Amino acid sequence: MEEDDEDAIYNIEDKRLDSLPVTSKEISQATRTDPVLSRVLEFTKSGWPAEVRDERLKPFFNRRHELSTEQDCLLWGLRVVIHYKYEKFILGELHDAHPGIVRMKEIARSYVWWPNIDRDIEQTVRLCASCQQTRHLPAVAPLMPWVWHSSSWHRIHIDFAQKNGHDFLIVIDAYAKWPEIFHMSSTTANATITVLQDLFSRYGIPYQLVSDNGLQFTSEEFQWFLNVNGVKHVRVAPYHAASNGAAERMVQSFKRALSSSKSSVRSLQQRIDSFLLTYRTTTHATTGHTPASLFLGRELRTRLSLLRPDVERKVVNMQSNQKLHHDKQTQLREFYAGEDVLVKDFRCKETWWLATVAERTAPKSYVVILQDGRVWKRHVDQMRRAERSTSSHSQNSRNGMHTSADQDTDMSDLASIPVFIPTAETAPVVGSQIPQTERTHAPPSNITSGEQTSQSATPTVTADSSASPKPLRRSSRVSKPPDRLIETME
Ligand SMILES: [Zn+2]
Repeated sequence: MEEDDEDAIYNIEDKRLDSLPVTSKEISQATRTDPVLSRVLEFTKSGWPAEVRDERLKPFFNRRHELSTEQDCLLWGLRVVIHYKYEKFILGELHDAHPGIVRMKEIARSYVWWPNIDRDIEQTVRLCASCQQTRHLPAVAPLMPWVWHSSSWHRIHIDFAQKNGHDFLIVIDAYAKWPEIFHMSSTTANATITVLQDLFSRYGIPYQLVSDNGLQFTSEEFQWFLNVNGVKHVRVAPYHAASNGAAERMVQSFKRALSSSKSSVRSLQQRIDSFLLTYRTTTHATTGHTPASLFLGRELRTRLSLLRPDVERKVVNMQSNQKLHHDKQTQLREFYAGEDVLVKDFRCKETWWLATVAERTAPKSYVVILQDGRVWKRHVDQMRRAERSTSSHSQNSRNGMHTSADQDTDMSDLASIPVFIPTAETAPVVGSQIPQTERTHAPPSNITSGEQTSQSATPTVTADSSASPKPLRRSSRVSKPPDRLIETME
């Protein structure tokens, strides 16, 4: 191959590797703005006319009963209709691991369509220099003497393949046609066993293992390994290698893919991985399913999957949007030390007191200091933001706050909530009782004040104890203290 040709190939591969995959978003954008596709989109949504004159519309008209739309992408069956500006790119994706014409069409059938796509695929393979050099003769139809087991990993076929001085251990599951390929630095029985042990740890131990009579497979060591694991070894006669067909064919297409991609800038391992992903996600001619769906029970997500606007992704997107929104809202429910808050009084329904946040003890727990110095522990749900402005409009009031307002009082309601800021005359009335449910963070001390003595908490982070709301007697507090309080203080 000429140097220039090689460079050309590098460039193409590099460009594609560096580019992000095309997504349904770009497809829908292109569909909406294309003069032909936008009309198809409209017709599909609102109904087709009895006939169309425009030649460009005809391929779509002929398929009109199978067309549908999803998030402004056009779908023919499950295949996304591709705008011509992405055709080349998609052809590159489809030809990623240099599959032949048949396989390429097979992959396309699960993802994409545009008028004349089959012709374009044929041309791509014909124009691919790598593919042309490694064109193989049609394989002799292999014998299929094996009993069809309706479960995967029941029987596996293994074989060694050599290419360009590299050795590969090929393993393929007979039922699902699930392939595994290992680049081997050694082909001894020991090295083979190491790989199989790894495989068995992932997928379990198969019932049967089919191989040819390679030295490593007939060795005592290998026999022993299979025996202790209860694997039946089926050896195919050397002159009958075709009966190990499953592995054989895989080997052939792998070798072909490897030759075709040899000028790639990708590492050998990357090319192996690329081949495996393509093979596993392409419908297999024998089974009519992808190896992935039979082996894993699900389809694998590939770069091509992004082309398909799917409901699932839409839902996920919506959910993440909701979460974002929710998170935004909950972000507001966060308080900082020194911030004024209203905290719920457990002893008295719908009673809230003005307090200052002292400390955040857990993501949703705070220690707050009431105006009278009491220290309470509160969950974020039992706290509300108190706006600074409240204190300004209640200048001459006293500072303890109490409200019998509705549960969901927002801050705008605060204006109507009585706010008390004790003055020298009304204060100090310390020693309000600490609710039974409360635990203070400071050692309790007895403070005598006025006619009342009771347990009180003297917080370490003490607020001015002279600024205290009127204490409340526990007995009177339970049923109707708010009114009383307001009355007394007014
Ligand atoms: Zn190719």
